[in-house]
Amino acid sequence: MVRPDGTLSHDLLPGEKGPQDACGVFGVWAPGEDVAKLAYYGLYALQHRGQESAGIAASNGERIAVYKDMGLVSQVFDETTLTTLTGHLAVGHCRYSTTGGSSWANAQPTLGATPHGTVALAHNGNLTNSAELFDQLVDKSGFPSSGEMAQGNTTDTALVTALLAEHPHGSLEEAAMHLLPQLVGSFCLAFMDEHTLYAARDPQGIRPLVLGRLDRGWVVASETAALDIVGASLVREIEPGEFVAIDENGLRTQRFAETRRAACVFEYVYLARPDTTINGRSVYESRVEMGRRLAREHVVEADLVMPTPESGTPAAIGYAEESGIPFGNGLVKNAYVGRTFIQPSDTIRQLGIRLKLNPLRSVVAGKRLIVIDDSIVRGNTQRALIRMLREAGAAEIHVRISSPPIKWPCFYGIDFASRAELIANGLGVEEIRASLGADSLGYISEEGMVAATRQERGELCTACFSGSYPTRLPDADKLGKDVVESRRRASGGPARPPRRPEHASAVSIDTHPSAAEGLAPGVHEDACISDADPGVHQGSTGCDPGPDADLEDVLLPEDREPARAATGPSAAGTRAPATDPAAETPKDA
Ligand code: SF4
Repeated sequence: MVRPDGTLSHDLLPGEKGPQDACGVFGVWAPGEDVAKLAYYGLYALQHRGQESAGIAASNGERIAVYKDMGLVSQVFDETTLTTLTGHLAVGHCRYSTTGGSSWANAQPTLGATPHGTVALAHNGNLTNSAELFDQLVDKSGFPSSGEMAQGNTTDTALVTALLAEHPHGSLEEAAMHLLPQLVGSFCLAFMDEHTLYAARDPQGIRPLVLGRLDRGWVVASETAALDIVGASLVREIEPGEFVAIDENGLRTQRFAETRRAACVFEYVYLARPDTTINGRSVYESRVEMGRRLAREHVVEADLVMPTPESGTPAAIGYAEESGIPFGNGLVKNAYVGRTFIQPSDTIRQLGIRLKLNPLRSVVAGKRLIVIDDSIVRGNTQRALIRMLREAGAAEIHVRISSPPIKWPCFYGIDFASRAELIANGLGVEEIRASLGADSLGYISEEGMVAATRQERGELCTACFSGSYPTRLPDADKLGKDVVESRRRASGGPARPPRRPEHASAVSIDTHPSAAEGLAPGVHEDACISDADPGVHQGSTGCDPGPDADLEDVLLPEDREPARAATGPSAAGTRAPATDPAAETPKDA
């Protein structure tokens, strides 16, 4: 059944909320090229970073049109919609919701009317001072009476867009240079006015952002893999603390803050595509090396090394290489199970994890298996897998994990789970092993993981493992997904989110003179100013595959029951016992 409110769900089992990824951003300035299609394929390459909604803004030099909707890039766009997005520059976005719900109103790029035109903005990351920025905006000029925030957009991205748009400085460039130093947290921005493509990256460079060159233009993208797919060559990273502008005068660059590099180590472990390179280091090679180091740290006699498809594959290759134990695939993944508008029947729900994974009995029966995964968040997926492999006849199951125990939440764009849900928060390795029902369990050390990335330890964020955060954090009540929404309610902002317009997912701004003129067929100029409609677009729960949760949405109830009384050989992990579970306050570096 297609859900009539347009919200998207892949909650095959309601209530099972998986971790969410960051988003993907893509920007292109290329006169003479079909920029909408370049953006489409760029987003296609970045789909793993956000699967809730997708959007592209394009400018022909006179006006900006945006088309966005809930769903995968391939579901949102078709030939017809792309042909309505004409011009010489474009910005695209695929979203996971980390601030503001998963709804059409919060899809990106966001639009804002500036004194000189329009700004369209796409954001990867998560600001940690949204409450402060919100208060700054409202204190200065009251709650916006127009624009996306006025229409119920509750994201930090809309907040940045509003602050850029209302700024009294002469140009968008000046406004950006004034605003960017005030943003705290993680942000990779790709934004544009009618003429110029802009990009900016937070001073820590938490999320990746790269600059590429086309024969007739420039590209910025979250990952190098997106450059490859559009035929752009990698020029360099956008530096942490750097602001870039690209137009007919070429590329201009300015620094808005000193670099304090703290790149997310989890991009190397799980988030980024294996064919991406971050700060000169191949993500694939990093993962293989993590596997090698894992093998050295946690040796065990076994017959077969197998990955949890597919994120565990490079580390499993490395583990097999180093240990000399044969590599094999003991599980087959249904590559086409993903986000869906179709609600599963009860019969389908009973299939549980088998909806996504099926064991190869001839491979695993009677074998001592080493099962490699990139991370454990709640442990539900691993518990279900182990149960399934035992049913398929595995003699022993030794779990090896290519990242250390995740004990702390991420405030920089990755929604693992609440701290209370993290299995390593409060349980030691042996207790986790018993909970999963494995014969042994070993995590790579933090030192081993960091060394595999070939990055300086002091230039990586490892906060979800160590609790040491690279930026200041506000009080807990000023953090969280709903921070803008709660601020909006408290300030008397509009209580109702906007309705997704029928038959159209395009938006434009009515306050810029050019926007009301001659939009292409299928592009509605008033979609963003439609009447609010309660009960529509409240947002899905937005769960999605991620570390550990790749399969979380197809788990049976028993898979979520920690088998704390389970017995078996001792854990092989070398990590110290979990920290005091009562110590809920994360450390602030
Ligand atoms: S807390 Fe973890 S996931 Fe978040 S940015 Fe830091 S290393 Fe990455």
